[in-house]
Amino acid sequence: MRLANLAGRLVLVTEDERAIDVAEASGGRYGPDPMSAFADWRGFAVWARETLADDRPGLRRKTIDRTMLGAPVPRPPQILAIGVNYREHADEAGYPPDSLPVTFTKFASSLTGDQARVALPEGNVDWEVELVVAIGVGGHAIAREDAWSHVAGLAVSQDLSERVAQLDGRFPQFSLAKSHPGFSPVGPWLVTPDALEDPADLAISCAIDGETMQDSRTSRMIYDIPELIVRLSAVLTLMPGDIIFTGTPAGIGNRRTPPRFLRAGETLVSRVEGVGELTTHLV
Ligand code: ZN
Repeated sequence: MRLANLAGRLVLVTEDERAIDVAEASGGRYGPDPMSAFADWRGFAVWARETLADDRPGLRRKTIDRTMLGAPVPRPPQILAIGVNYREHADEAGYPPDSLPVTFTKFASSLTGDQARVALPEGNVDWEVELVVAIGVGGHAIAREDAWSHVAGLAVSQDLSERVAQLDGRFPQFSLAKSHPGFSPVGPWLVTPDALEDPADLAISCAIDGETMQDSRTSRMIYDIPELIVRLSAVLTLMPGDIIFTGTPAGIGNRRTPPRFLRAGETLVSRVEGVGELTTHLV
């Protein structure tokens, strides 16, 4: 099942990629706010599956204009982002894996959706394709065997990063350097894990103007999705609607010789197998 934020309204995405407005189809029980899905994720998921399965006559299906897609989770209570979570990227960054995942936040004002136009600030802006996990059911001290049942869905994302400010001082400025407006594109929609053959092993890649920059598999994560949920929820309480940026594979611009950064006029396309394709226009 796929959920999207179409012009600020929660929609279900049909197999032929058309939108069913949730507020309209549920008679106001859920929606129109995309965050309303997380007030009672399990109840909502049952209703949504039934609605998609039964071909109710008179249920309106609208064509999706991709430029109208917003971040599928527009106002997460918490945004967690993980650094150096892929083996090859850990090697290129020179970090040893730690017992706690390297964790920072991306401020919510940096969220945007598919087809976003992102203005490049001064400095060196780098790409980081990532899989985003949205939490459906919150919890503290979640057990590994229960972890997937807390997940609402997965989305494609970029953790755009301005490297000069990130690496300038004595201590890394992950959160600020990764939170310029539009620096957290997420989309194109949220895909529930049951829609994927193996949600733990998905091809993940990104390309600038058609040239592949990163190309890996999510099974190469040091801490996989259940392990991230275990280790993060051992410390903090995860809340419904939280999102986790799960880290980027090798191939970022800062680690190339010579370094290579994003330029105005370029188009960044990020893909996760079975989840979708997210396009970001740099201006
Ligand atoms: Zn990242």
